[in-house]
Amino acid sequence: MKYDVIIVGAGPAGLTAARIISKKGFRVAVFEKERRLGVKLCGEAVSKKTLEDAFGTLPKDITVQEIKQAAVYAPNGNNVMLKEWSGVGYVMNKKLFLQCLAEKAVEAGIDILMNQKVVDVKRKDGLGMVKTRRGEWTSSLILGADGFTSIVSQKFGFEKKRKRELISCLQYVMVNCNLSNTQIIRFYLGRSVAPLGYVWIFPKGEKKANVGIGVRGKPAKPYLDKFIREHPNIFSKAKIIGIEAAPVTISGLLDKIVDDNVMLVGEAAGQVIPLTGGGIHASMAGGRTAGETVIEALEKEDLSKNILAGYVKNYQKHWGKRIRDSLKALRVLEKLEDEELNKLADVLTQQDILDLANGINITRVGRKFMKHPLFSLKLAKALLTS
Ligand SMILES: Cc1cc2nc3c(=O)[nH]c(=O)nc-3n(C[C@H](O)[C@H](O)[C@H](O)COP(=O)(O)OP(=O)(O)OC[C@H]3O[C@@H](n4cnc5c(N)ncnc54)[C@H](O)[C@@H]3O)c2cc1C
Repeated sequence: MKYDVIIVGAGPAGLTAARIISKKGFRVAVFEKERRLGVKLCGEAVSKKTLEDAFGTLPKDITVQEIKQAAVYAPNGNNVMLKEWSGVGYVMNKKLFLQCLAEKAVEAGIDILMNQKVVDVKRKDGLGMVKTRRGEWTSSLILGADGFTSIVSQKFGFEKKRKRELISCLQYVMVNCNLSNTQIIRFYLGRSVAPLGYVWIFPKGEKKANVGIGVRGKPAKPYLDKFIREHPNIFSKAKIIGIEAAPVTISGLLDKIVDDNVMLVGEAAGQVIPLTGGGIHASMAGGRTAGETVIEALEKEDLSKNILAGYVKNYQKHWGKRIRDSLKALRVLEKLEDEELNKLADVLTQQDILDLANGINITRVGRKFMKHPLFSLKLAKALLTS
């Protein structure tokens, strides 16, 4: 069977690209190794803009909890409340979200092949070849949307082994929590709380929450269990009804994400905001941008890396810069000891935290630190160098 495009992976990136390309009448197949969509663990927090970009009008039942504020806690327990979040976020049902994305893509004409793990990909006679245990398929282009373990990236030599930096995450689904305000998502920082990462509490209704941790260089479980023990006001009557673990790529965009007849999108390409580990919006943007370039390439009947490079150029303009700047902020913050983080919390405004987290306008924050006796050397220089 010959397709114009074969997409490996039915996550936010793959399904978005599939819909865009198929809408123009090209034959697109999406191969997904799992039997169901959305098996991979996720905190499920997204901005309103993410869902608007995905669907225009919000499909029913995708959002579980509206989020109006975010609270960031320093190691000493003091917090900065981010009120700019007013009305702009949700904790959603990611499985349903992906089902809706898949529905839209199928309506646009794609084939979706579930439970079909891609075990090999290669280029032969100017075409892409994709192999699963059930057969072989060819296409003009292979799009690797297969996440952090990307077989497409590995087989086409896009990245060197162990170059991708991952943060290990563990998440509990907890019920009977005592959440004083269900419209606040909470982030807890500090080496004693989550070494080189953070703990999150994302409410999913009155008493239910996704409670997770990301850490580097230490095991996640003891830290998450300790955090839960140390917050009896929230968790004394709570029980864990789900446990899942998965890593997130936090080293930014890979140096190379296109070649003749092949490209990477989403987390496979490193399209995650490094400081937060949030990647749904960045991956969908990757899927959309890649999809637009693929249409152009198919129309010109030229799937060479020179044409496909247009995708990289367009992605770099906004998202690439955000990812780079967020990575810069991460590199700066990961050097701070808990005492310094406590002091930083006193200095940063809501806007500073939002900008650092999202990789937006970080030179403004850098300039502000220039005047600070403690942070001028340690933070300002790193944020201001390009
Ligand atoms: C613990 C945790 C919490 C997170 N929380 C958030 C959050 O709250 N908000 C946010 O924005 N982001 C969050 N993220 C990040 C977000 O989940 C990812 O950035 C996003 O899902 C990436 O989308 P993707 O389509 O690129 O890849 P993925 O979602 O990883 O999808 C890849 C797909 O490819 C499939 N696949 C892989 N290999 C093969 C193969 N060989 N053959 C066929 N199919 C294959 C997989 O099964 C999967 O369905 C979180 C991640 C983790 C681990």
